[in-house]
Amino acid sequence: GINSLLDFEKLEVLGHGNSGVVHKVCHRRNANVYALKVLRFDEKAVVVRQQAVQEAEILKRMDSPLIVKCHGVFSSGGDTESVGCDLCFVMEYMEAGSLHDVLLMHQRLPEQIISGIARRVLEGLHYLHSQQIVHRDIKPSNLLINNRGEIKIADFRVSGVVVGQLNSTPANDFCMGTRAYMSPERFDPERWDGDLSDGFAGDVWSLGLVVLECHVGRFPLVSPGQKPDWATLMCAICFGERMDMPETASPEFRSFVWRCLEKDWRKRGTVTELLSHPFVTKCWNTSSSGTKDLVGYALEGQLSFFFSLFSFGLF
Ligand code: ATP
Ligand code: MG
Repeated sequence: GINSLLDFEKLEVLGHGNSGVVHKVCHRRNANVYALKVLRFDEKAVVVRQQAVQEAEILKRMDSPLIVKCHGVFSSGGDTESVGCDLCFVMEYMEAGSLHDVLLMHQRLPEQIISGIARRVLEGLHYLHSQQIVHRDIKPSNLLINNRGEIKIADFRVSGVVVGQLNSTPANDFCMGTRAYMSPERFDPERWDGDLSDGFAGDVWSLGLVVLECHVGRFPLVSPGQKPDWATLMCAICFGERMDMPETASPEFRSFVWRCLEKDWRKRGTVTELLSHPFVTKCWNTSSSGTKDLVGYALEGQLSFFFSLFSFGLF
């Protein structure tokens, strides 16, 4: 079964998040490889943990090639009911890592690749929203890529309570983007009538920021070198002027991003509208410029990473 840590052999650490660590693991009997995420809770975090369990149950029911599969959830100390211990998620292993990792390596991606990413994420959101689920945490580290170059949505926050927030400092809260990709109506519900929003438009905002980040190569709301504190972020999200677009951006790209980053959620583009936006339906001339697909970018990143370890003499 998939219900005990004893069933798995840990192979390597894939990454760290706000609330825990993700390991690459191998199932001892069926030899399948999975990603195992372990979230830590202390005794005081009973409610948050309860919400995470609830979240996991919904995640387990999701069945779509656009969503990272959750195969099982258990507590390292027994069943998921026992409080004050870890919660382990057995997830589909995504070999090429996250979009965040790709952006760290490449900084900027060509529009053709970004268009493909946008289409897949919109299709994934369309699926989630049709199941009445608001993701609430669309950001580069939650968009994962497998070795076929398929990008999928991972980790959502059903409850609206961010699991990692309890034990994270404001600084790494920002880095991991828990608030950074939040829409104006979620950031400041009073001013932006957030209470009336069903939340779906918030996912579109986050996607717009991700798409822009892929083009400019860094988180687009704060200028390079600016201290990314809470107040700066709030000003940029809720009161900032229209964002600077990269000069090289095509008209379709600009229009797509502007439809996503409309501050008033009632005027923002919907998932259905954006699925037929020219930026995602456009036929790209693939014959020019040696085309590389998303997995090409992701794996090249991993290779150059090993290369740099090599040249630093770590191997
Ligand atoms: P937060 O804690 O705010 O959600 P995060 O998304 O970066 O931040 P995790 O979800 O714990 O944190 O993921 C940490 C890293 O682990 C990711 O950036 C990714 O590189 C890697 N990772 C997570 N899930 C998988 C998976 N299913 N397959 C492969 N790598 C994964
Ligand atoms: Mg995540």
